[in-house]
Amino acid sequence: MTATSTPADLAGAVRVLRPLLADRLLLAGDAGFAAARQVWNAAVTRQPAAIARCTDGAEISAAVRAARDAGLPLSVRSGGHDWAGRALREGGLVIDLTGMRGVTVDAAGRTATVQGGAITADLLAATTPYGLATATGVVRAVGLAGLTTVGGYGPLIGRYGLSLDNLLGASVVLADGTTVTAGPDDDTELWWALRGGGGNFGVVTELRYRLHEVPSILTGMLMFPLEQGAAVLSGHAEIMAGAPDELSVMTGFLPGPSGPLAFLCPFWCGEPAAGEQAIARLRSLGDPIVDQIGPMPYAAALSMFDRSMVDGNHYLLRTRWLPDVPPPAVDALVTAATEITSPFSALILNRFHGAASRVEPAATAFAQRAPHTVLEVIAAWQPGEPAEPHRAWAESTATALDELALPGGYPNLLGPDDEDRSRDSYGANLSRLLAAKRHYDPDDVFASAVPSLFGQ
Ligand SMILES: Cc1cc2nc3c(=O)[nH]c(=O)nc-3n(C[C@H](O)[C@H](O)[C@H](O)COP(=O)(O)OP(=O)(O)OC[C@H]3O[C@@H](n4cnc5c(N)ncnc54)[C@H](O)[C@@H]3O)c2cc1C
Repeated sequence: MTATSTPADLAGAVRVLRPLLADRLLLAGDAGFAAARQVWNAAVTRQPAAIARCTDGAEISAAVRAARDAGLPLSVRSGGHDWAGRALREGGLVIDLTGMRGVTVDAAGRTATVQGGAITADLLAATTPYGLATATGVVRAVGLAGLTTVGGYGPLIGRYGLSLDNLLGASVVLADGTTVTAGPDDDTELWWALRGGGGNFGVVTELRYRLHEVPSILTGMLMFPLEQGAAVLSGHAEIMAGAPDELSVMTGFLPGPSGPLAFLCPFWCGEPAAGEQAIARLRSLGDPIVDQIGPMPYAAALSMFDRSMVDGNHYLLRTRWLPDVPPPAVDALVTAATEITSPFSALILNRFHGAASRVEPAATAFAQRAPHTVLEVIAAWQPGEPAEPHRAWAESTATALDELALPGGYPNLLGPDDEDRSRDSYGANLSRLLAAKRHYDPDDVFASAVPSLFGQ
């Protein structure tokens, strides 16, 4: 892959795009530019030259062509939640899909179609009145295209798989500006690559999902003193090793009023009495100081997380895939919680199991289909604070688990500084994925896409 070496012709791109987009083309210095540039992680300082707020596929296609002709680095932004800020490139043109958040539900056919900029909240607001949902992540502000095309771990993973396992098809504007449909009966190689290879092949303008009846789930928060963290994590690992598909449980350490607290956040999407029993077992792992469990609609359950990991702080993430969470991993995590450097930082573990683990590894580009636990090490601090202690904490926490970890990690959470690990995530699928990239984006127009795989 070669990067463009000719000087960028911003004026040329503006000449083409201004008549199409009018004041939806924002240039650095314009009113509204700074707000449009803002992403979830305020530590991202990259300054694009222009932001094209597109509202349909034709505008996206024009923006892709204009950026290429002008030699401008191109990037794509939906929910703005990539921690590494890959939706922005220095001096580049951002294709901003925040004005494309429409959702159409076919309740009888159990499908939903979303535009490329829709966030999780948009989809669930449209499906909840029908008692329907699909497998999403836990945070409602996360963009669906970014989430789904790389993975999509979440509360329904055991029963319905990853978000990408629920995708039925997608429309994509490719690097040459043409539009194609990816699906089981359409462009099948793109269809394979798009389910794990993320934004590397084009701009996704539409995604179609399978929906499921999820009228209500049993969920909430159990929080325990830090001293009970080892028992909570070990017990969680044991319970999840034999967990039914209906049960998913996030665990780890979250900020509390006077230091980190261990937590269990169960999600039960099945028959309620069996859910009560499963949750009683989790509750008995310690003496909860917070115990708020009850039935609620899926979308309401996710709203629990609206105020965690807020926009505007500075963040750095590290991640590992652990096959299991044996005692040495528990010890390392408890040590990390004890040595946490910020009241905003957290350690979160999610188990990949059930339906997600019954998909053949070669069926989609996402390759790690054996049951495993994803560890997220989230260092968070306030603007103005020195980053170094928090960065060092995240690095040493992740490194302490290296010997126990699988190769690779969840590519959505691996930054551009972790490209080798990102490539390792694809195992036997890597060569097919790289071939798809060479085929669909031979000039690496989408060089800053998540996942970072291609040496940019
Ligand atoms: C607070 C928080 C919670 C999270 N929770 C979960 C979770 O529960 N489960 C989980 O699996 N992940 C989770 N993630 C990770 C998240 O899924 C990824 O960071 C994802 O890439 C974010 O997508 P976005 O559209 O919001 O990001 P953006 O920053 O807008 O985009 C990131 C990248 O996605 C690609 N992209 C986005 N939109 C398009 C499009 N329309 N077409 C083509 N490419 C596109 C581009 O490569 C872009 O660089 C979470 C992240 C955060 C910060």
